[in-house]
Amino acid sequence: MATPTPTRVYTQGAGVALHMVPTEGKVFSTYDDAYNFYKRYAYHAGFDVKKSRAKKAFHEVCCTREGKHVSKRTSKKTGCKAYVKLMHNFVGGVVSSRVMDVVELQHNHSLTPSPSAVKKMRAHKNRDDTVMQFVDTIQESHVPL
Ligand SMILES: [Zn+2]
Repeated sequence: MATPTPTRVYTQGAGVALHMVPTEGKVFSTYDDAYNFYKRYAYHAGFDVKKSRAKKAFHEVCCTREGKHVSKRTSKKTGCKAYVKLMHNFVGGVVSSRVMDVVELQHNHSLTPSPSAVKKMRAHKNRDDTVMQFVDTIQESHVPL
């Protein structure tokens, strides 16, 4: 008798430094700060992120393989649930800070943190200057002194 295979989940490898891992309650002053933090984590963990819902009260950034309305035959999207939810704190009607309110680190697909994969990703997204600069920063930071 075959036992049903439990849903497999994937998270970052042991090589990802703990201080890079998003945690609930972490505070950022701007959306870009929060987005870049998650982006950096994703870079090391081996997935890609995209900006998702943007509401007055919160913003969400999710794995590019999320997607509820995707057919089973669609190749890339797996309905992945990995995302972070950034709740806005308001002071005088203006967003003063953003807090990681929900952090879902589990993916339903394997993660591929290989430098060549990231380079390919970069080649396909060469209009995204922010990401490119960001990747450059990461690479520079890996140069031994
Ligand atoms: Zn994912």
